[in-house]
Amino acid sequence: MKRCSQVLVAISVVCFALLAAGKPPMADTPAYTWQEPENHAVEVDRLMRYHDYGEYDREIREVANSARDYLESIVRENPKGERLAAVFDIDETALSNWNAMQKCGFCSYSAEQELFSQAHDPDYSIEHDPPIVPTLELYNFAKKNGIAVFFVTGRPESQRTLTTSNLMEAGYSGWAQLYMRSEMKPGESPEPASVYKPRARKSIESQNYRIVLNIGDQASDLAGCCAERVFKLPNPFYLVK
Ligand SMILES: [Mg+2]
Repeated sequence: MKRCSQVLVAISVVCFALLAAGKPPMADTPAYTWQEPENHAVEVDRLMRYHDYGEYDREIREVANSARDYLESIVRENPKGERLAAVFDIDETALSNWNAMQKCGFCSYSAEQELFSQAHDPDYSIEHDPPIVPTLELYNFAKKNGIAVFFVTGRPESQRTLTTSNLMEAGYSGWAQLYMRSEMKPGESPEPASVYKPRARKSIESQNYRIVLNIGDQASDLAGCCAERVFKLPNPFYLVK
């Protein structure tokens, strides 16, 4: 019996060693195969077509219309006159970086937003990003109906002046607050949006607001606390965790 246990322990040790040597994917890593992935140029072409043939705009419009219908029902059903709030992300939600993205072949596919900066592409400036029109209309609808509008963005504090003037140039005005990411110290890695953004929403809630809507283009915009309904806009162009 003792010998049997020793054999089982030995087998377990060998199995563990083999698994460690093979470096299996981490639990949060998507499954993959060793087949050659599709050529990058084909993927870029697919993204361009998704945009240029109008499907991207159509899907944005569909989400924004659902959000507007939802806000309409909320406004109707708010007899108590509570302080209502709506939270908007900025990049690929309120403003479009399409020009920069397509110009570099979607080179910032896993990037934080600061990569869409002049440091990354000297010819590109985020000062004049155009609005995403269905979002602008949703924003104005919320404002007109007495819902306080907040921006929560992963852009750093150093871009506050530039971001504010871009938002105003694009037609946004009268927001209650613009939450931006604190500047990082040298060597510090950025806090994930999925951590920073819920904290910002918590802060809004602590001002006695009931957050009825949160809209963004990344799952990390919508993860975590404090909003009654979330709306996810399409973005197959890059990922912000
Ligand atoms: Mg975004």
